[in-house]
Amino acid sequence: MPRRTLDSLVTQVASELMGVDATTMVAASERVLSWLIEHFDVDTSFLRHTDRDRRASILIAEWPPRPVVPDPDPLQVTYFDSSDSVFSALEHAIEPMVVRPGPQYDDYQQTIRQSTGVAAVSVAAVPLVSRGEPTGVLGFVKEGDREWSTRELNVLKAIAALFAQLQARVVAEERLRYIAMHDDLTGLVNRRALLEHMEERLRAGNAGPVATFFLDLDRLKALNDFLGHTAGDNFIRSLSTRLRENLDPADMIARLGGDEFVIVPAKPMDAESAGMEATRIQQLIGRRVTVGEETVSRGASVGVALGIPGETTVSDVLRRADHALLSAKSSGGNGVAVFTDAMRAQFELQDDVELNLRSAVSDGSLVLHYQPEVDLRTGRVVALEALVRWQHPTRGLLPPGAFVGVAEATNLAGELGRWVIRTASEQFALWRRRGLASNVVIRINVSPVQLVSLDFVETMEGILRRYGIDGSSVCLEITEHVVVQDLARTQVTLRGLKRMGVQIAIDDFGTGYSSLSHLKALPVDAVKIDRGFVQRLGASADDLAIVKSIVGLAGSFGLGVVGEGVETTVAARTLVALGCYRAQGFLIARPMPAEEVEEHLASGRIALDLDLPGTSRSVLPGPS
Ligand code: C2E
Ligand code: CA
Ligand code: CA
Repeated sequence: MPRRTLDSLVTQVASELMGVDATTMVAASERVLSWLIEHFDVDTSFLRHTDRDRRASILIAEWPPRPVVPDPDPLQVTYFDSSDSVFSALEHAIEPMVVRPGPQYDDYQQTIRQSTGVAAVSVAAVPLVSRGEPTGVLGFVKEGDREWSTRELNVLKAIAALFAQLQARVVAEERLRYIAMHDDLTGLVNRRALLEHMEERLRAGNAGPVATFFLDLDRLKALNDFLGHTAGDNFIRSLSTRLRENLDPADMIARLGGDEFVIVPAKPMDAESAGMEATRIQQLIGRRVTVGEETVSRGASVGVALGIPGETTVSDVLRRADHALLSAKSSGGNGVAVFTDAMRAQFELQDDVELNLRSAVSDGSLVLHYQPEVDLRTGRVVALEALVRWQHPTRGLLPPGAFVGVAEATNLAGELGRWVIRTASEQFALWRRRGLASNVVIRINVSPVQLVSLDFVETMEGILRRYGIDGSSVCLEITEHVVVQDLARTQVTLRGLKRMGVQIAIDDFGTGYSSLSHLKALPVDAVKIDRGFVQRLGASADDLAIVKSIVGLAGSFGLGVVGEGVETTVAARTLVALGCYRAQGFLIARPMPAEEVEEHLASGRIALDLDLPGTSRSVLPGPS
């Protein structure tokens, strides 16, 4: 290092410390100390920070490094009130202190003698001062005696001021970082800190599996609503404290906001121990908490997922845990669910569907199958229900259950629905032109989302006009729960459809909550009895009673009634006996591609051997 003049020394130190932050502070400080001891020809130097709350001085850097550092290091943290007179004086000093051999600081010299064997030392201690307050000290020690000139001390004061600035900046940065990483209600870490931590834990080569618990308080909203938001906040704070106190200090507990918490235990664990730990936490949270005057308790649901370092990404683990949480909640809440292979399969399918469904709607990989509906007494085909399928590039032919829900959740329901209506209408018009299906109704399922969209009636009208289909040949099927959800909006749409003569049927009837009084308010033509009831008609007296009452009610309201899911001759015969003649089901015909359905349309009938009372054969096979 080039020999510096006293003044250029300050400039050099200033430029060295300029770009320093918390991570480089120690190394840069050591570098500066090394220059200083050389320049001032002393033996050792140190930089310490004053922690005013703890009334302690903390070692930041020293030079040269001590050859042996005891553990614990007595120099690391020194309390002002339990140290020698020199150190005690430094707690409040804002001017440099010089100690030289002699009687004034005898106790100090004695301490030095005892710990180092050096008879006497000379020390210059220069306080770091920030806004008039001492925030640390820069110190130099030389064996024996040394004089410190005012000029030297002034230079050291200038350098101490630079260190003081650096420290203030680092403290501010750390404070900012703390704020950026913590939740202000609970002091727990926040989402950002959680993501950073998980990123680190899931890095290849780290110990795994890394368990992740997604935690959600059941019905917290009710607490906020009835006891007020302060009570809700206090409740969350108490729970946070309880978690902190009962978990390993190394475990990460993050609050993502609201009543959502994520816990990442420090210890790697397999699915079984993760499930046990999650259950322990779940029970911990379920215990009562006193909030003001009230004692409240809230159940919690916990979703558990495991991440394998180097394999699983942070967002995958979190999504899996969230998925497991949903499953815990949907099975009643107040429980724990571990992400399983079945959930994974379902999850992957859902991802895939979300990713590819939009293009499927336009690239021709959707197909419609048609399931005939017959009059059980004659076997005559009275309707065809269009049922959508997706010819998936890798997963084969997917049933609507695998993707219609996703479409509804991702704003694709409208597009998918229009495709279904257009395709079914086009096919139906084609059959009609070829003289097939003239007395047959085409049944089309519509999503709730479609029904409340404002232009649905117009869209429908446009399609019917384009293919030259009269409204009365079309029956739209809507599920029962939708009807109840938005009665007013649905009513408007249904009336519009009625004006075109379009028929409306309530699908899956019996599973929802609509009383028939609701139905009275809607222009509905028919109900389709849910297949769950029909399937067990031979076996369950309850189901028999339900079907009987549905048929009776439909009759008294003047509604048509269709039995779905007829799988056995017993079911078919029972329906006929109850007066429900129209039916659909695997016994009669499965849903099939358009080409296959043409044969049935050509004959107009489907052969059934139901051996109904009063006829020797209920249905004559072949065209009549
Ligand atoms: P859904 O409207 O109740 O349709 C009848 C479902 O029952 C069809 O299932 C059909 O294959 C099945 N099925 C028919 N007969 C029997 C039987 O005897 N036994 C049994 N176990 N099942 C029978 P699929 O095709 O899987 O459709 C499921 C649901 O998906 C449909 O129930 C409907 O709600 C919905 N869906 C189908 N196509 C569409 C569509 O184009 N748009 C909308 N929004 N939903 C559709
Ligand atoms: Ca249907
Ligand atoms: Ca149905």
